[in-house]
Amino acid sequence: MELRQASSPEDVASNSLLLAGGTELVPLLRSGLVDGDELLDIRRVVPRGIDGTRIGAGATLAELECDPQVPDALREACRLAASPQLRNMGSIGGNLLQATRCWYWRLKWPCRLHGGDECFAREGEHREHAIFANDFCASAHPSDVAAALLALGATLRTNRRELAIADLYRVPTEDDRRTTTLEPGELLLEITVPEPERSVYLKAMERKRWAFPIVGVAAARVGGTTRIALAGVAPVPWLLDGGGLDAATPLPRNAYKVEIAQALVKRATQALA
Ligand SMILES: Cc1cc2nc3c(=O)[nH]c(=O)nc-3n(C[C@H](O)[C@H](O)[C@H](O)COP(=O)(O)OP(=O)(O)OC[C@H]3O[C@@H](n4cnc5c(N)ncnc54)[C@H](O)[C@@H]3O)c2cc1C
Ligand code: SF4
Repeated sequence: MELRQASSPEDVASNSLLLAGGTELVPLLRSGLVDGDELLDIRRVVPRGIDGTRIGAGATLAELECDPQVPDALREACRLAASPQLRNMGSIGGNLLQATRCWYWRLKWPCRLHGGDECFAREGEHREHAIFANDFCASAHPSDVAAALLALGATLRTNRRELAIADLYRVPTEDDRRTTTLEPGELLLEITVPEPERSVYLKAMERKRWAFPIVGVAAARVGGTTRIALAGVAPVPWLLDGGGLDAATPLPRNAYKVEIAQALVKRATQALA
């Protein structure tokens, strides 16, 4: 496989594997979970700075976690993600596009997300899996950052379109197994984050540090409207709407996640008051 440096956002072939910090892509390549003809280093063509409400998709989580222009929920979601070394290398764009941590998928079991006809987690080990939209694939979206951006009502700009963060993601189905709507050759360039009156991010994890969310809860009040979004509870970042947590459909061994989510949502709502 060839490694090449992109010279412009248009210089992206549909079969290029896009490399930013490499903290996610390199392990996936090493374990044979992704493959392609060309590895394209996009760091010179993806904006990196933070300018008021606009964040370059190449900004690292370490840059975001300590910048006072960044709303509290997003700063905290970055601070609580991964380890300091990973946050120094990992970009926000790469974070939003990370693959599932489902252990069956990572171990290459021929499950539905790999094109097979079975979800091994549903019948097997699913303690850390989804409690919403888990019928076809019970993977739990691992991004703290995506949940924070969803609560904040962020929008994204790519080299082809503008879209709401919610529209970046899709629940996989029999006909279309993808979990994002990004097309081959489409580059995430910039994120616009409205200024909230108040926002907060709370996270429950297996350890106090360096762990993916068992449940993450972001709450933000923007223009008088409060939105709550969750990480680690559905195959996509999950916006809590009308049915709230009563609409959850936990599996036999992960109902505890509903209780954790209830407690964190209550605390996050109190923090906004
Ligand atoms: C051990 C470990 C623990 C972690 N813990 C957490 C955690 O607790 N919470 C959390 O939220 N995250 C966590 N992460 C995820 C981490 O934040 C991401 O790995 C990192 O942000 C990815 O950024 P990157 O620049 O390294 O992406 P890369 O590895 O370079 O790319 C990741 C994916 O995004 C695509 N991509 C990257 N940038 C763009 C772009 N601009 N346009 C289009 N496609 C793009 C790549 O093609 C690739 O598919 C963890 C990761 C590891 C390895
Ligand atoms: S949860 Fe999704 S990724 Fe995991 S085994 Fe089931 S179909 Fe595969």
